[in-house]
Amino acid sequence: MAIDAFLTNARLADGRLVDIGIADGRIATLGDNEAASLPNSVPILNIGGDLALPGLVDGHLHLDKTLMGLPWMPHAAGPSRMSRIETDKKILPHLPVSTEERAGNLIRECVTRGTAHLRTHVDIDRESRLAKLDGVLAAREKHHGQVSMQIVAFPQSGVMRCPGVLDLLDAAVRGGADLVGGIDPLEIDRDPKGQLDGIFAIAERHGVGLDIHLHEPGEMGLFNVQEICARTHALGLGGKVTISHGFCLGQVTERQAGAAAELMATAGVALVTHGAGGLTLPPVAMLRAAGVLVFAGNDDIRDTWSPYGTGDLLERAAIIGWKGDFRRDDEVDTAFDLVSAAGARALGIVDYGIAVGASATLFTIPASGVPEAVAAHPPRKLVLFNGKIVARNGVVLPAPIPIA
Ligand SMILES: [Zn+2]
Repeated sequence: MAIDAFLTNARLADGRLVDIGIADGRIATLGDNEAASLPNSVPILNIGGDLALPGLVDGHLHLDKTLMGLPWMPHAAGPSRMSRIETDKKILPHLPVSTEERAGNLIRECVTRGTAHLRTHVDIDRESRLAKLDGVLAAREKHHGQVSMQIVAFPQSGVMRCPGVLDLLDAAVRGGADLVGGIDPLEIDRDPKGQLDGIFAIAERHGVGLDIHLHEPGEMGLFNVQEICARTHALGLGGKVTISHGFCLGQVTERQAGAAAELMATAGVALVTHGAGGLTLPPVAMLRAAGVLVFAGNDDIRDTWSPYGTGDLLERAAIIGWKGDFRRDDEVDTAFDLVSAAGARALGIVDYGIAVGASATLFTIPASGVPEAVAAHPPRKLVLFNGKIVARNGVVLPAPIPIA
């Protein structure tokens, strides 16, 4: 096979120093001194012993809400979820920068930090209808050579309390959204059957998955976990349904959480977490041990919901590890798995990882191994997407370029 380029002296997570041969955007060879055996004409980039890790996967973002790229704005939302929903509606339509542009600003921040795949929720409501979806779709198109994106049609303001939103969600899926969203069927809608039946019907109709925001506490949340698992099982949607947050799983008794984990594992319902401030972290280790696919994302990054965040998934893994008291190296490895391989499985990304045959989608970082990369999260030096350089030393290139 004709090798297009080599990354030499790359450290793998297991500590080995290897040369990575790239052909047609894929990892074609991986081994000791591979580059030395090939003609001098093949371009070589010496990584100098830095760690090479697979492109990161952000499983939960809100690209349409970010204020990235705008001058700093004082945080205006109140303490409740409803006040934040209302603040969004007051601020976002009047910003001087479009949804497409703001989403693009945040995508590029993520790309410079090694994110290769992401799932963003996009607000669908009666006021903005599909406008935010159109903006994020345009941003996706513009950045398709740098990152892969899934879009969830997200009923931020509710479904049953806002007549017409179910039709808008259906239209959003027809218009390019990849999954249907949902939100707190009891707390926001006070009609769990109505909302869940409605959104699962859309998913079934169009053959797409679901990703449902579930902030509801304790047994209220647990009730909806059970309802979501029951519908997933009944409709054969296992592997295509995610619960976002699921704070309730960290608030109920161990026995209740264990039973919920078993239900989720059997139904094929995944969980995405971000280690939210001020709220409980779901029991990540217990859920994984029970067979639940748990992955992670950044959620709100510098927006009307939260002033914090940069898009750095290694920093996010560190926050989750800190919050979950993950201290040993194997526990920090778990935090990394949430923002890499586990996320890739959840998003259905094939050919993932640093392995022969996988896509050459990776980044390099000056760290001895995964635990140090997570704990210290130093800047990424080189970011490749499908074998091409998309960012270098914290700067996104205007267009992807081959290694030369
Ligand atoms: Zn969210």
